[in-house]
Amino acid sequence: MAKRALITGLTGQDGAYLAHFLLGKGYEVFGLVRRSSHRGIDDHRLRWIGIEDRVQVIDGDLADLSSLMRAVETVQPDEFYNLAAQSFVTSSWRQPILTANATAIGVVNALEALRTIRPAARFYQASSSEMYGLIQEPCQSEKTPFYPRSPYAVAKLYGHWITVNYRESFGLHASSGILFNHESPLRGTEFVTRKVTSAVAAIKCGLAEKLSLGNIDARRDWGHARDYVRAMWLMLQQTEADDYVIATGRTTTVREMCRIAFEHVGLDMDRHLVIDPALYRPAEVDVLLGDSSKARKMLDWAPLITLEEMIAEMVEADIARLEAPQLEKA
Ligand code: NDP
Ligand code: GDP
Repeated sequence: MAKRALITGLTGQDGAYLAHFLLGKGYEVFGLVRRSSHRGIDDHRLRWIGIEDRVQVIDGDLADLSSLMRAVETVQPDEFYNLAAQSFVTSSWRQPILTANATAIGVVNALEALRTIRPAARFYQASSSEMYGLIQEPCQSEKTPFYPRSPYAVAKLYGHWITVNYRESFGLHASSGILFNHESPLRGTEFVTRKVTSAVAAIKCGLAEKLSLGNIDARRDWGHARDYVRAMWLMLQQTEADDYVIATGRTTTVREMCRIAFEHVGLDMDRHLVIDPALYRPAEVDVLLGDSSKARKMLDWAPLITLEEMIAEMVEADIARLEAPQLEKA
C-alpha cells in the first residue's frame, strides 16, 4: 500500500516541492490548507509545478488543534511534515503574536495531534538557521548554540526544542531539520533572492528601472529548495529520529547574489540598485554559514544545484512569467 504523507504548508515553496518529490516516490499526499477567500490563488505553486490535481487538500490551520486532530484522524499519515509557519522575518516584528501562534504553538499543536492519534507516524519539523542569529561559531552545526535575533527566530527555537522534547519524552520519531536559506522560482517575492530575480526580470523586459534593497552586506548560505526537500524525506527514513543541519557550506553576500542575477541577463547592477535604509531590520543576522557534514555522512545527502544555477533558473522563470501572462503568477 502507498505510504501516506500529511504536509502542513502545502501551498508554500517547500510544500509544493516536497509534495512533488513524494508523489514521485509513490506516496499519497495530503496537505493542510487554511481557508481563504482566494482559493485558486493560494495553490498557484502547485499549479506551477503541475500537481494541483494530485494532492488532497484538508481544511485546517496550525493554530487550531481541533483541525489538526481531524486531519491526522482522516489521513492516518505514515509521515507528517510540519512546514507551515509565518516564515518571513520582517513580518515577525510587525506580527509577533501571530508568528508565535503559528510558528511556535503550531508545532506543539501538530505534535499533540500526532501523539494522541497516530504516535507511530514519523514527524519532521521545519527548523531554521535563523535560530543561530548572532552567530556563536563561524560555521554553524547541530552543536552550535542558538542566539535568535527576531520574533520569527525565537518562535522557531520553541518549535525546535519542543520537537526534541517530544522525541525524548514520548519516544516520537520526531526530527528537526535546521535548514539554511533555500530558494527557487517558487520562493515568495518578499524574500531577497526572489525580490532580486523578479526585479531583474522586470528591468530586463523594460518594465522597471530600479531595485531597492536594504543591507546588501548580509551573507547567507543559499541552497535550492529542490535539494532541501530531499533531505527532509531522508531524515524520516532513518531508524532513529535526529536533528540535522542542511546547508551548502558556501556563504555569499546579498550584493554578490544580486550581481549574479544582473549579470545573467547582461545588465550592470550599479545602474539599477538603490539602497533604502527603511529596508534595514531592527536586528540583523549578519552572516550564516552551515556545516552539514552530519547530514552528508548519515543521510548521504549533498546539494546538487549551485547558487549560480539557481539564480539563473529564478531569473528565467520570472522572465517567463512576464512574457507569458497565461502562466500562473507565482
Ligand atoms: P512559505 O512562506 O513559502 O510557506 C509557508 C506555508 O505555511 C504556506 O503554505 C502557508 O499557507 C502556511 N501557513 C502559514 N500559517 C499557517 C497557519 N496558521 N496554518 C496553516 N498553514 C499556515 O515557506 P517555505 O516553504 O519557504 O518554508 C517552509 C518552512 O520551512 C517554514 O516553516 C519556514 O519557516 C521554514 N524554513 C524555510 C527556510 C527557507 O529558506 N525557505 C529556511 C529554514 C526554515 P498560505 O499559503 O495559506 O499562506
Ligand atoms: P531571511 O534570512 O530568512 O531573513 O531571508 P531574506 O531573504 O528575507 O533576507 C536575507 C537577507 O537579505 C537579510 O539579511 C536581509 O536583511 C537582507 N536584505 C537586504 N535587502 C533586503 C530586502 O529588500 N528584502 C529582504 N527580504 N531582505 C533583504
